Amino acid sequence: MTIKNKYDVIVVGGGIAGIAAAIKAARLGASTLLVEQYAFVGGMSTAGMVSPFMKHSVGGVTLVRGVFEDIEMEMRRNKGMIDNGFYASAFRNASYTLLIQSNAELLLNATITGVARTGDRVDSISVQYNAQNYLIEGNVFIDTSGDAQLAFLGDFPWTKGDEKTGLLQALTLFFRMGNIDIQKAIEYVKRHKEEFFDWMEYDFDLSKIISVAGYFSNVKKAIAEKRLSPEVEYIFFTTLPESGEASFNTSNVLGLDGSASEDLTEAEFKGRKQVAEVVDILQKEIPGFKDSILLETAVQVGVRETRRTIGEYSVTGDDIRNAAKFDEAIARGCYGVDIHGQKGEKSVMEDLAEGEYYEIPLGSLLVKDSENLLAAGRCISATREGHGALRIMPTSAATGEACGALAALAINKNKNIRQIHYSLLAKNLKGNI
Ligand SMILES: Cc1cc2nc3c(=O)[nH]c(=O)nc-3n(C[C@H](O)[C@H](O)[C@H](O)COP(=O)(O)OP(=O)(O)OC[C@H]3O[C@@H](n4cnc5c(N)ncnc54)[C@H](O)[C@@H]3O)c2cc1C
Repeated sequence: MTIKNKYDVIVVGGGIAGIAAAIKAARLGASTLLVEQYAFVGGMSTAGMVSPFMKHSVGGVTLVRGVFEDIEMEMRRNKGMIDNGFYASAFRNASYTLLIQSNAELLLNATITGVARTGDRVDSISVQYNAQNYLIEGNVFIDTSGDAQLAFLGDFPWTKGDEKTGLLQALTLFFRMGNIDIQKAIEYVKRHKEEFFDWMEYDFDLSKIISVAGYFSNVKKAIAEKRLSPEVEYIFFTTLPESGEASFNTSNVLGLDGSASEDLTEAEFKGRKQVAEVVDILQKEIPGFKDSILLETAVQVGVRETRRTIGEYSVTGDDIRNAAKFDEAIARGCYGVDIHGQKGEKSVMEDLAEGEYYEIPLGSLLVKDSENLLAAGRCISATREGHGALRIMPTSAATGEACGALAALAINKNKNIRQIHYSLLAKNLKGNI
């Protein structure tokens, strides 16, 4: 495989947003390169082992289809997904299949280290691979790095954290356990509802994903006895396709910045210590877990929030709450503001009113003061609250897909991304708007 020195569209960051962007741009005929620093694609969906996909349908209408639905179908076909839960390996395989079919090119083990620009236009990126730096030119660039790396390196506008305090959401190292007696576990849960969150549903259907969050007394006691880090607030798991397996979104690492290597290193140790402590509690005290085993921990600690781009429009918490609609909508969502509180900060988890959904405007993809730079997924332009809702995987895929479509249309029409008529873009985003 030879990497060319110029592409129509360059996508930086192979998480779900970048995968969707690259597949869409390539499907629409643009020569497309997706660059990823890890040796595999998926970002938080694989390296972070995040599962399941959050809610993205209202009143029986699925709000995110397109590439996202193709990934889902591919995972189901390979029995790597049930309901909305999936395995990291299934996600990687599905992504590779679809990327290859689309003719997008992929460069793994390659890190973007620089952005060269002339005025408002990005000319090229510096990519480090094979221990050397290469310049790759492009016509349109898409920042799906999660950390707004292109905006940061190219000196385009970005922001980070809470507008007043600068705080970033908590970090979480996911882990997966097997050989759980799920029946026994749920019998206990049903008999001790006071030990669990009041949003939990107790009509457990074993053919679907089961979510359990709480075990408050066990957590409290273990913290008091210094067997568990005081940062852990509850135990939260969702089941996986294989019976007896579950994925745990439980560790809670505070006070660190997920875009700084030093902090990520510290988070790795703190996260792994917390996982060991929680596993010990589960195996010794929690019904259904006596014979369970720790199968794996995620490759890296999960990062919910770092830098976001500042675009022509920033989606706000009120846009989410008020189910805002826009003239130039490029995606839809129905997940509310969800902020995992930092040290000294209260967590926020809001639901939209039944049957409501919001739209995401084109302006949130267009990085301010740039001629040919788009952003999607975790680094889309939004306020901290808006970001708290938009960051989930289905929405990240939808915003990535919209960037891919816009980039390819600009190439096909030989125009600037801002000159593409919205009606043409909309025609290419059917199912997502
Ligand atoms: C703990 C946790 C729990 C979550 N729970 C859920 C949930 O239950 N359901 C849900 O739907 N969502 C959930 N989310 C949110 C969701 O997982 C992420 O927000 C989403 O996956 C982000 O996708 P992305 O493609 O924007 O970014 P990422 O997945 O972060 O991908 C960015 C990619 O860019 C690459 N990259 C970064 N910098 C460079 C560089 N310089 N050069 C090359 N490559 C680079 C990274 O390696 C990575 O692969 C959760 C997130 C976390 C952390």
